[in-house]
Amino acid sequence: MERDIYDEDHEAFRDLVKDFIKRHATNEDRERWDAAGEVDRDTMRAAAEAGILGLSVPEEFGGAGMLQDYRFRAVVNEEVITAGAGSLAGALGIQDDLAVPYLVHMGTDAQKEKWLPKMATADVLGALAMTEPAAGSDLRGIKTTAKKVDGGYLVNGAKTFISSGVTADLFVVFVKTGEGDRPDAFSLLLLENGMAGFDHGKKLHKMGFHGHDTAELSFTDVFVPDDNLIGGEEGKGFVQLMMNLPLERLSIGVSAAAAAQAALDWTLAYTRDREAFGQRIADFQNSRFQLADMATTVDALWAYIDRALEAYAAGKLSAEEAAKVKFWATEREAEVLDAGVQLHGGYGYITEYPIARAFLDARVHRIYGGSNEIMREIVGRQLAGKR
Ligand SMILES: Cc1cc2nc3c(=O)[nH]c(=O)nc-3n(C[C@H](O)[C@H](O)[C@H](O)COP(=O)(O)OP(=O)(O)OC[C@H]3O[C@@H](n4cnc5c(N)ncnc54)[C@H](O)[C@@H]3O)c2cc1C
Repeated sequence: MERDIYDEDHEAFRDLVKDFIKRHATNEDRERWDAAGEVDRDTMRAAAEAGILGLSVPEEFGGAGMLQDYRFRAVVNEEVITAGAGSLAGALGIQDDLAVPYLVHMGTDAQKEKWLPKMATADVLGALAMTEPAAGSDLRGIKTTAKKVDGGYLVNGAKTFISSGVTADLFVVFVKTGEGDRPDAFSLLLLENGMAGFDHGKKLHKMGFHGHDTAELSFTDVFVPDDNLIGGEEGKGFVQLMMNLPLERLSIGVSAAAAAQAALDWTLAYTRDREAFGQRIADFQNSRFQLADMATTVDALWAYIDRALEAYAAGKLSAEEAAKVKFWATEREAEVLDAGVQLHGGYGYITEYPIARAFLDARVHRIYGGSNEIMREIVGRQLAGKR
């Protein structure tokens, strides 16, 4: 089904992304990131220079100013994921979708001026640190505290599973500044690399996304100045998180649709080429039926995602709608990838093949960004009339 949400500006931008991929996201680059467990800074800087990173940074701070029109970011995700470079897509997404928006929407003028120009060039990479060893879905159960002291806060605690946790320079950290678990007991602080007592723990070894770093963080009496309180107001952290989560969930939905599309394309190419019993794999009735299911699912995914992109651009994508998009898209993605792996036979299990890597990468889409169970909770609670 033809998609119609992109105009000629988006298509011209797509050419630029493709050109970047040809130069900076080759198989050798991907292998280097996988071996290092991270995307190197030079690649991130090159992405910024090419104009495919920093899309969400306002123009006055050196970015492209496209935070609300997520279609340009969607183009980046589509092309980078189709090129089999899921780790790069992850690294770009953390900066543009998870870190930068907190400064753009909620930062003070001084915070924006200090950080956004450097984030636009990838001289500063950001990350978002909410999850803790004992609290993921249940965010109000976090234990990291920020105690008010003269001129700032003393932060103690630990975070885990933090994407870009090794390579990032600036961390948006969800902390407790009050008692109990009321929404106003939480704040977001900016923690900088090099602050005394701020340590990066191990780089975690993951099932997929081997070229994108995920780490533990620990904080021991880290002094964080008042200037690093996001928005300059204490007790707003929970509300600030809730404001950006729809974007995070939409971005996962886009990645899921892009991976499903890529899986379909790889599988079509493979099954048209490979032969068994004297005919192409694509010619078996079962293969044709599987391919028909995959293609139809991909069409439905794009129709839904495109509608969500339009709603987001119009400022109308609600938390519940974003939650629906996230769980539904990632579950369809899993089905399409699984069918694609099966049609590749043994080669579908070999990580030299992009479908195998995409299959492994995709598993986390149903877990992070709020697990799909939590997404159903959000949607179900609204349907039941409970807030
Ligand atoms: C590769 C990777 C990258 C990540 N990146 C980041 C990051 O950049 N920043 C960050 O802050 N976090 C990040 N996370 C953390 C991620 O968001 C959490 O793992 C996720 O929210 C689930 O939390 P948890 O692991 O504590 O699982 P738990 O909350 O312990 O859940 C365990 C299981 O119980 C289910 N469950 C929990 N509560 C309910 C409920 N009320 N009803 C029904 N089922 C429930 C969950 O759905 C899940 O299936 C990342 C995780 C991974 C694996």
